Amino acid sequence: MAHQTQVRVRMAPSPTGPIHVGNLHTALFNWLFARSQDGVFILRFEDTDQERSKPEWEEVIYNEMRWLGLDWDEGPDIGGPYGPYRQMERLDIYERYAKRLLESGHAYYCYCTPEELDAERAEARKKGVGYLYSRRCLHLSEQQRAAFESEGRRPTIRFRVPDGEIVSFEDIIRGEIKTSTDDMSDPIIVRSNGIPTYNFAVAVDDIEMRITHIIRGEGHISNTPQQILIYQALGVEPPIIAHVGHILGADRTKLSKRHGDSFVGDYRDKGFLPDALLNFMALLGWSPPDGSEEISRERMIKEFTLERVSKAPSIFDLKKLEWLNGYYIRSMSIDELTQACIPFLQRAGHLPDDLSGVDMERLKEIVALSQERIKVLSEINDMSDFFFGPPKYDPKSVKKTLTSQGRQVLMTLEKELADTPWEPDALEAAVRGVADRLAIKAKDAFQPLRVAITGSLVSPPLVESMKILGRETCLERIRQGIALCESKS
Ligand code: GLU
Repeated sequence: MAHQTQVRVRMAPSPTGPIHVGNLHTALFNWLFARSQDGVFILRFEDTDQERSKPEWEEVIYNEMRWLGLDWDEGPDIGGPYGPYRQMERLDIYERYAKRLLESGHAYYCYCTPEELDAERAEARKKGVGYLYSRRCLHLSEQQRAAFESEGRRPTIRFRVPDGEIVSFEDIIRGEIKTSTDDMSDPIIVRSNGIPTYNFAVAVDDIEMRITHIIRGEGHISNTPQQILIYQALGVEPPIIAHVGHILGADRTKLSKRHGDSFVGDYRDKGFLPDALLNFMALLGWSPPDGSEEISRERMIKEFTLERVSKAPSIFDLKKLEWLNGYYIRSMSIDELTQACIPFLQRAGHLPDDLSGVDMERLKEIVALSQERIKVLSEINDMSDFFFGPPKYDPKSVKKTLTSQGRQVLMTLEKELADTPWEPDALEAAVRGVADRLAIKAKDAFQPLRVAITGSLVSPPLVESMKILGRETCLERIRQGIALCESKS
């Protein structure tokens, strides 16, 4: 193969916002491919949109990538042999390449004004034909150029698309893709302010950074022929190219901000785990040979191949992500899960910022009781809030259970539990005993008790929770439950 032996791939976000799940998808495939091939994963910023690019967004992108555990080997923050890794710091490089294209006749100066170009476009629309630049500036004489310059016009540089050719590339996910150059307008590669356009800058960066494989979303398929022509004009063999299928929302339209949570940070803030999110994203358009749904990072790296990436779009199924996240939560040790839950409990005001006075053993017991029941970490708050303060009574649960029969149950329990040994088994037996005595189903005794103690019919295991809360608190809540039954009737 003409390519270097070491795989070099890249992620090239614009620092104009946080990471969207679509960017994460292609970043992950690049990262997996690099790691599976002992290759190099490069982060570089496409910051030519000077209005919208901000250093703060660069920080957000770094933090999100770090949180995900997707590490890069070369990048703006750590440098590398082919830097700089921000396009605005590479203007001299683009200038050099543009000059080469001008000198070899593959590019030319264009003095057309936006108004003139708009008029051309309007004309094409009127005729109902696709717009192609008129090439009015292709053969300007020195005098014509000088005249434009003296009018104060600043030229753009256009790439001269060859006539009557077929540009073809072999997409390793989609097979051969061909485009006729007769359907391509001569693109502007450098704007009049000297800033390169995307297709030119990306081709130059990929050449200079020795990129061996371009893995990106299918939205870029239409850009690829332009980039290939630039490679050809510069006499460089293009990298291997793979366009990954889109991710669709449940309504089968391309996933976008309209679908709600579309940023990586939204998932982090809700309490999705990086491993679960990566596992989920990897399965959008790829699957390991044995079809496993739960697959560790290490296994993903071992088993990832571009050949197994599908070109079909995939559906972002939030239920599946939640299910996977629950699976990862259940696989954590109690220590790990407790540490992961602490920031969520702090944010909800259940724990102080300074943890030095917090009873860690009790906290771990609380977290352990919720482990089977939460799908995302933020659910720890609703699930366990009654441990950190008075229960928040859920009106539906109250209405259903704190009835006149509920009152009778709670009054009997208040007496019974005054001297039951405070251990889960004994508590369980005591509640069952009360149900027998009142000739009601055990469930009809547990439900009012659950609502009195926890505020809701949905809670962690009841007698274990009562054990943690202690007798005094529980008796007090039973009395509160009785009061609620009375106030209702
Ligand atoms: N900034 C582009 C994007 O994030 C890079 C595309 C590419 O990979 O060439 O979509």
